[in-house]
Amino acid sequence: MILLDGKKISAEVKAEIKIEVDKLRESGGKIPHLAAVLVGTDGASETYVGSKVRSCEEVGFRSSLIRMEAATKEDELMKVIEGLNNNPDVDGFIVQLPLPKHINEENVTKAILPEKDVDGFHPVNVGRMTLGQPSYISATPYGIIQMLEKYNIETSGKHCVVVGRSNIVGRPMSILMSQTSKFANCTVTLCHSRTKDLASFTRMADILIVALGKAEFVTADMVKDGAIVIDVGITRVADASKKSGYTIKGDVKFDEVAPKCSYITPVPGGVGLMTVASLMKNTLLSAKKEIYK
Ligand code: NDP
Repeated sequence: MILLDGKKISAEVKAEIKIEVDKLRESGGKIPHLAAVLVGTDGASETYVGSKVRSCEEVGFRSSLIRMEAATKEDELMKVIEGLNNNPDVDGFIVQLPLPKHINEENVTKAILPEKDVDGFHPVNVGRMTLGQPSYISATPYGIIQMLEKYNIETSGKHCVVVGRSNIVGRPMSILMSQTSKFANCTVTLCHSRTKDLASFTRMADILIVALGKAEFVTADMVKDGAIVIDVGITRVADASKKSGYTIKGDVKFDEVAPKCSYITPVPGGVGLMTVASLMKNTLLSAKKEIYK
């Protein structure tokens, strides 16, 4: 079993980005600038945004964090988005999800200019990604593809089963794995909560990508010998022995599944770190105008 080490690979990706930023600086080019909007004070969102800001520092980007109160009205958030859309100094920005219930996430996603949508959630970017055209690919699926690439994992002709069909992880992942490209070309099955006899599908997977958000849901009997298992799940589980009061669990019961796998991602230390590195990569692409020329 080989561990797909998100810590090592994300550090490599970030080091490559830093080299590019250093070159831009030396040639007098513009230093990439990522902005993040955080509405409210959700603990997990604070953690994610914090790690994005730290990653910007690591790769030499500029970053701005715009904090807004949980009671912020949708039109107030829209004004901030409009300001960021029109600010030539900001190359890309994200609005951290989830948003408070009274704000419509779809409206927010659509309000971000596709050219600055480094999360890759805008319908234009999703459409371009689906058609195999240049686009910002949403950071988690993009991170998984980069992981497969860095470990040079043969995917062509394999059966990839994706569990979860969210717009930000499962569905784009299933599209990417079915595309005509080197680290794809899979036969794809997309499972969700209405799938009957889920285990009969997961057991057929050469590559199993799990993004459903239920701690340790996938057990050893659901996985084929030699499978490649990518665990996207991040769930906080109460743990009185930890100072924080919780421990992070993936969607896969790692201890019993890992011995059966050819490759597996740990949680933490797997996909999550790749997600942040991919956001940095999208921001660099935006600053260099490589997607929207
Ligand atoms: P969503 O809640 O949006 O989607 C979950 C998906 O899982 C849905 O499609 C749902 O089906 C499906 N599902 C739920 N229960 C079952 C079940 N029993 N059997 C089969 N399918 C099921 O989650 P996200 O995609 O946003 O996130 C998934 C997990 O990944 C979460 O733990 C999240 O925290 C984590 N995550 C991690 C990231 C990272 O960087 N590592 C980034 C983003 C998310 P249906 O559509 O029918 O409801």
